Amino acid sequence: MNRALQSGAGASQRRRRRLRAWLVIAPTAVAGLVLAGTLSSCRRENYVPQTGSLALLDVPTIRVRITPAGITQADLSTTGGYRLFADGRCVLDSGGPLGKAALRRQGGLWRLGNLSIPGWQLVIAPTDGVLRCGLTAYRGSLRMIPIGADGFAVVNHVDLESYLAGVLPRELYPSWSPQTYHALAIAARTFALYNMRYAAASRDYDVGDDQGWQVYGGFSAETGKSRQAVSRSRGVVLAFGPPGGERIFLPQYSACCGGVVNGAAVIRDVADIPPLRGGQKCQDCHTCPRYRWPTLRVGKGEIAQALCSVYPAAGSLGGVATIRVASTTPYGRAVWLDVVGKNGQAMRLRAEDLRLALLRNGASNGKGLASMNCRIRDVGDAMEFSEGRGFGHGVGLCQWGAQGKAEAGWSGEEILRFYYPGATMFRVY
Ligand SMILES: [Zn+2]
Repeated sequence: MNRALQSGAGASQRRRRRLRAWLVIAPTAVAGLVLAGTLSSCRRENYVPQTGSLALLDVPTIRVRITPAGITQADLSTTGGYRLFADGRCVLDSGGPLGKAALRRQGGLWRLGNLSIPGWQLVIAPTDGVLRCGLTAYRGSLRMIPIGADGFAVVNHVDLESYLAGVLPRELYPSWSPQTYHALAIAARTFALYNMRYAAASRDYDVGDDQGWQVYGGFSAETGKSRQAVSRSRGVVLAFGPPGGERIFLPQYSACCGGVVNGAAVIRDVADIPPLRGGQKCQDCHTCPRYRWPTLRVGKGEIAQALCSVYPAAGSLGGVATIRVASTTPYGRAVWLDVVGKNGQAMRLRAEDLRLALLRNGASNGKGLASMNCRIRDVGDAMEFSEGRGFGHGVGLCQWGAQGKAEAGWSGEEILRFYYPGATMFRVY
């Protein structure tokens, strides 16, 4: 139990009720997002029983996309009995396990081993035990979403607490402190709930399973430490706002801030709220191998290519002539860049977006640009990134810094209060 939860049980309960109500009924100020949430939840009307769950009652189900979109085959198996549902209708109830079988979609039919199943969306739900997709075991069920003619994506429907038990070991080292796990369990739960609430209406999933979201390894990834951190913080989330009007926010976190916590508004167009404003000095991440990193040069051709992959407008620049830093934070991190084209025109973009473009589409050196907390200089055919600090966007909780604080005796709640100042903790289920 954290201190915020212990102080004034009656008031705390009332706040919890209000926050719970907000989670169901979003504020009118974000009417567009209310619609998104409503449409999104309508898609969950086909009830499929959850099995192998860590949680008991009142825990929401999260939809995690565990494969890229448009795969053409997935190898499925189960350790016990299972049911198959096509568009919500049970088409097979097997008392025994499913041996490894290839799932494909051909000509509007699902083919699972020797079975042919007509239907649009296919769900496999174990009646006991867990199921595997490829080499990874998952709790909950798997929903197959058709994409294009013969492609599909696999989405794991799993209760939020089990999901978190499969996230923490992929985000933190096994040897790290239970207090670091505790802090991240609460931040990660809030991150997931925020995405569940505001998932785009067009999406059949709430989050992906990679670094663009939170890395998730299913049941296979769970450890005793991760299960314990999840169960001890069950239902607790971060919120911010005036008393009685608190709302969850997107509590971003990164590997290593490099010395100063970054502000969310530096990397995204978001409201500037105290928990995500940044600016705290964080020396506890100095043990991170990338607390300081060596000078890196990235060819302008590689930069142009990576930018064009993400921003078609960059093609009109005719190549990159240079990059100028248009603005920085008070602690020296680039915020906006002007990418000057060979045609003399300039394109303004966030420094963090250049890093992400290189990370996802860079040819070689650019993928190694650890953060934008660095000096940026034109050296002829390349741009030079020197005096580099930290790894990742640096917003919110710094994982290496959190571990340093835990080793110094900080509790999980104290760590959260440092990285998200002004935030309150609530138990929402
Ligand atoms: Zn740090």
